[in-house]
Amino acid sequence: MNVTEQACLRKLNTFGVPARAALLIEVESEEEVLALPALRPDRDLVLGGGSNVLFVSDVPGTVVLNRIRGIDVIERTDEHVFVEVGAGENWHDLVMHATDQGWHGLENLALIPGLAGAAPIQNIGAYGVELASVLDSVTAWDREQAQWAVLATHECRLGYRDSRFKAKPERFLITSIRLRLQRRFEPQIGYAGLGEALRAAGAGDHPTASQVRDAVIGLRRRKLPDPALEGNAGSFFKNPVVPPDTAEGLRRDHADLPGWPQPDGRIKLPAAWLIEHCGLKGETTGGAAVSDRHALVLVNRHQATGRDVWALARRVIARVEERYGIHLEPEPRIFGHRTGADEPSGQDAA
Ligand code: FAD
Ligand code: NAP
Repeated sequence: MNVTEQACLRKLNTFGVPARAALLIEVESEEEVLALPALRPDRDLVLGGGSNVLFVSDVPGTVVLNRIRGIDVIERTDEHVFVEVGAGENWHDLVMHATDQGWHGLENLALIPGLAGAAPIQNIGAYGVELASVLDSVTAWDREQAQWAVLATHECRLGYRDSRFKAKPERFLITSIRLRLQRRFEPQIGYAGLGEALRAAGAGDHPTASQVRDAVIGLRRRKLPDPALEGNAGSFFKNPVVPPDTAEGLRRDHADLPGWPQPDGRIKLPAAWLIEHCGLKGETTGGAAVSDRHALVLVNRHQATGRDVWALARRVIARVEERYGIHLEPEPRIFGHRTGADEPSGQDAA
């Protein structure tokens, strides 16, 4: 178990904002998880790849880096392969490996940053596919009950970019996820832009799994700012899901506002459209900006602090609410804005 005091977190979050942790503990096994100190959500944090977190303050307690590895086939049936994946495995590498092995269902989730253990936290989703469609169970140390828990998918209460884990972040420390992958490939290419990209690449209407995966990678590279070049956490806001009459009311004044009906009858609206139509693309606060490429993405343009990003986010939320009466919710975990903890020291540029 690696332990560092006064650890720099700048390279451990894809926003690249400065912050420090009083203690950083790297765990590589389930035994090491049992040896961890008690954690409190307002003082401590479990971290995977740091691609869905914003540090508004330093972490006054402990950051646990989950680095438990392993990809093991547990069972094969005629239709499925059940694969147990350590929480510390890189998600995109897993998608590449699975496709190469002929284990299917993850192709549309290629190039999502972060680690496998964080995938259930917000039920990662992209291009019309969510983790929920392939997740079999989650193994976690339940700190509330002080026991190991194996949660079946329905017990994870997965929703649109949501799960029970988001509501109570420090209860479950996820150590592995079990995936139920298909042996026969069934392309999911109905999502806008994907079919066109495949046809443009000459893959036609019956693409192979690697063609779908590579088309998703190509689309994402074209559309999204690369965190290695401009710090960000992907979509900063969730798409709001509203009652049908709210969507209809908005459409009376804004006929071009898109909307996607959800299984429960509500309508998902594109947060990017709302932000862009408030004229907020390119808006800045300190070193933070609303990306010029993608209105849903806040970027660290020039040595932004977490406070800059959070102040910009609050301005975006206020403007969209004022203009459209819709309240946008942040998608990443915002650490420190309600804790009263110290502001980031900003002295960790190493
Ligand atoms: P972290 O940022 O480290 O953690 C996120 C949350 O999970 C925190 O609350 C943390 O405490 C908790 N957590 C992490 N690991 C564990 C664990 N083992 N046990 C318990 N809690 C844990 N998301 C999508 O859904 N779809 C996308 O298409 C997508 N695209 C993105 C593109 C870019 C460029 C970026 C930067 C982000 C994108 N994201 C996307 C968001 C992010 O990549 C995902 O949410 C990812 O699953 C986060 O993984 P992570 O390991 O980096 O999590
Ligand atoms: P896009 O294709 O330009 O679409 C914009 C928004 O419209 C998306 O947020 C998407 O919602 C919604 N949408 C488009 N077509 C849809 C359909 N047929 N049915 C339902 N909803 C539809 O989006 P993008 O920003 O380039 O991203 C492409 C995909 O990658 C999306 O699925 C997006 O969620 C995912 N992504 C996520 C993050 C993140 O950090 N969470 C970052 C980058 C990309 P959904 O988001 O619900 O799909």
